[in-house]
Amino acid sequence: MKLSEVKTPCYVIDEVALIHNLEILKKVEDESGAHILLAQKCFSGYDEYPLIAKYISGTTGSGLYEARLGYEKMGVPFGKQTHVYAPAYKSEDVPELARICDHMIFNSSAQLLRHYSAVRGKTSIGVRINPQYRTQKDHPMYDPCAAGSRLGMKREDLTAEVLEKIDGIHFHTMCEQRFDDLARTVRVVERDFGDILRRVKWLNMGGGQHITSEGYDVDGLITLIKYLRETYKIEVYLEPGEAVTIDAGILVSEVLDVVENRLKILVLDASAACHMPDVLEVPYTPTVSENYIQSGDSEEKIIFAGEPAEKRYTYRLAGNTCLAGDVIGDYSFDSEKKAGDRLYFHDMAIYSMVKNNTFNGIPLPSIYSMDKNGECRILKEFGYEDFKSRLGS
Ligand SMILES: *Cc1c(COP(=O)(O)O)cnc(C)c1O
Repeated sequence: MKLSEVKTPCYVIDEVALIHNLEILKKVEDESGAHILLAQKCFSGYDEYPLIAKYISGTTGSGLYEARLGYEKMGVPFGKQTHVYAPAYKSEDVPELARICDHMIFNSSAQLLRHYSAVRGKTSIGVRINPQYRTQKDHPMYDPCAAGSRLGMKREDLTAEVLEKIDGIHFHTMCEQRFDDLARTVRVVERDFGDILRRVKWLNMGGGQHITSEGYDVDGLITLIKYLRETYKIEVYLEPGEAVTIDAGILVSEVLDVVENRLKILVLDASAACHMPDVLEVPYTPTVSENYIQSGDSEEKIIFAGEPAEKRYTYRLAGNTCLAGDVIGDYSFDSEKKAGDRLYFHDMAIYSMVKNNTFNGIPLPSIYSMDKNGECRILKEFGYEDFKSRLGS
């Protein structure tokens, strides 16, 4: 079916945009020798894993469920790798994790020592370090190097007892950042952890690198990885979430009503609180358009909404929950909006489906994928049972 025929609310994964990102990541793998893993925390749309697996080396997960999904859908049976990191593992999860994960990363020496006998010889063991080097100031919420962070071991925590047990080190200190921030971080890691880099087999540089966004210094990244591999004789891993699926999906929504209170407000069948919680959490105002065209050589253009008052009709876009603050943002349009009109929220493959909830009994959006011909295929529909089943017997 065509995009105009999908049932709202729904996410539509744009495979053209996804492949665009994957081609850049594959170039990084091919030219630098690094391995790139999908961070499933950001995107776990496993119907796309067969496509993603054509380009990158595997997945990473943040615990048993994500690790299992990565293993089942893009793991060893597919010739791919499954990594896992969690701030702490529960003892009952460790045997299965050691079986399905080829790389297991611990967050503290206590965790490593507690689980060592259950994992030794079964998986490649690493620890997460905290370089204590901040490259972002705007969002402490997303800065693992912020004061008081529980994420990663400080240099002095890496005792001889820890070092003799590990094959690799991992850091993850960035969020939507450019190459310069990675390069500066690597210099600090070399300065403070250089002796360890010389004795381990691998370095995982985490996610948060916006490798596939416009203007990222991909060649700089390739050069840096080659330098690290040659200097320290190590394997290098990157585990981006956003860079894999940035701008590779939209949330399609319908206007249910128009109300007026100082300004005109559109009540939508999509909700910030339920379907795009990062809008409230980060917070940010997503890009909205009145149509959606895949990138390519089409003559048609995407008609984007403007800032409030920039175009003739200004509206506040809000969700269909009882939460007063379920507001997506204020926008303006060339044409007046009415019930039944559709709006398209951009860059909604990342940190959206994985964060969905059914607060207030709001239905979960369906999931479609769109191929290069603009043909939309339904991957999953949700119903009342999906709401009910999480709340009782
Ligand atoms: C969140 C996370 C990632 C992915 O981050 P993105 O910002 O989506 O690229 C990778 N590794 C770890 C440890 C993470 O917590």
